[in-house]
Amino acid sequence: MKIDPAALEATIREVVAAMLPAQPEPIVGDGVFADMNAAVEAAAAAQREYLTHSMTDRRRYVAAIREAMLTPEHLDYMAEEAVAQSGMGDAGHKYLKNKIAAEGTPGVEDLITEAWSGDDGLTTIEYSPYGVIGAITPTTNPTETITCNSIGMIAAGNAVVFSPHPRVAKLSCWQVRTLNRALRAVGAPDNLITTVAAPSLENTNAMMAHPLVNMLVATGGPGIVKAVLSSGKKAIGAGAGNPPVVVDATADIEHAAKCIVDGASFDNNLPCTAEKEIIAVDAIADMLKFCMIKHGAYEATGDQITALERIVVDGDKPRTEWVGKPAAKILEANGVTPPPGVRVIVCEASAEHPFVVHELMMPILGLVRVPDVDAAIDLAVKLEHGNRHTAIMHSLDVRKLTRMGKLIQTTIFVKNGPSFNGLGIGGEGYPTFTIAGPTGEGLTSARSFTRRRRCVLVGDLNVR
Ligand code: NAD
Repeated sequence: MKIDPAALEATIREVVAAMLPAQPEPIVGDGVFADMNAAVEAAAAAQREYLTHSMTDRRRYVAAIREAMLTPEHLDYMAEEAVAQSGMGDAGHKYLKNKIAAEGTPGVEDLITEAWSGDDGLTTIEYSPYGVIGAITPTTNPTETITCNSIGMIAAGNAVVFSPHPRVAKLSCWQVRTLNRALRAVGAPDNLITTVAAPSLENTNAMMAHPLVNMLVATGGPGIVKAVLSSGKKAIGAGAGNPPVVVDATADIEHAAKCIVDGASFDNNLPCTAEKEIIAVDAIADMLKFCMIKHGAYEATGDQITALERIVVDGDKPRTEWVGKPAAKILEANGVTPPPGVRVIVCEASAEHPFVVHELMMPILGLVRVPDVDAAIDLAVKLEHGNRHTAIMHSLDVRKLTRMGKLIQTTIFVKNGPSFNGLGIGGEGYPTFTIAGPTGEGLTSARSFTRRRRCVLVGDLNVR
């Protein structure tokens, strides 16, 4: 038989190609850069070009971001990869959080013009872009924060350089590439959203120090919030919380119990807003625990609590390997067969116990018993540590709800619902994944990423 050398070569090439692993996505390109300097410079060039685009253009770009992030396969990918790469959280809840971020984060409509008109003419205050924003994002909401920040920052006319947590680098780079492709398809300047292929502390520091970065936005724990606030630049700090939930004797106890289990188990307690410790008035504490167990809580007692503490806490810090893990896995590690459907672990403890004092970000809730509602409110204020983040209260006594609201001074105060109602999930109001307690912007939106500029026309255009 005669063999055609050209056909043989083609067959060999086909076989070899099939044996090789699929080509990985290019590491750089579409907004992802090899070094931070290049990422910042590209964003600065994009932002200069963006200044000449119209408000209609901005609306189109924001719509493209929403559409790209709402594609069902992208929602699935982000939810599953976030759990796989960070080792934390629940894919079903992450799907929901990503969807809410893409659908509900306010866009250009958030930039409301203020105006005065009179004999001296017309003066407006308009929300103008800051320029290039350096945004640092957490492991706990990796993609939600990038979606939410991108919508708000781009709606406000900025470009953004992301510095994600190294553990979720691959997913964050995928997201930046996907967003750039979607923006390019609708005519936006290239590189309005950039990042680096290998995020690191050094890269974050380089970004913070870069002269072309005009504003910093940190969504994370106390270390990064302190770092941006010490940078000498305009900074928004969205830091840690330790949300207490107070339950008084007037509350609908069964409803309160269900809300606490729902809120504290959401994404395995990763949200900075999730219930972290319970303060219950003595008269209803047993009833509350009974109802919590009915709704998916497991009560750990005595030596079980000590053993749990050894596993999940290291001094005053949660052990990273247990952050955002399901309650069933934590119980198994503690030698307990988890009851079917278990969602949180409740442990009655003192007000000084690590499960009460520290932000664990695990579905483990310390419960402190107090004699009356005023004692509960005072303890909640203490345990919130002045973070000004989130607090929850279950009560039908409007005076006590008011007292707690006034004393605790948190950015979010949810009454008679699970904590996630404060994020616009089942409660009124828009969602955000950057809640700026320390610097006071609150639930950030497009206008948080702007400068207020006065434009004065003298003598005319008062038509009243
Ligand atoms: P983290 O503080 O460990 O990391 C957050 C980001 O900051 C990451 O990108 C990390 O690489 C970077 N970083 C941390 N310290 C740094 C430093 N000294 N210099 C430079 N970069 C630094 O937090 P995490 O575990 O990813 O996220 C959980 C924390 O974030 C919790 O404390 C939670 O309450 C908080 N959080 C707050 C909000 C909010 O809106 N207020 C939202 C989500 C998470």
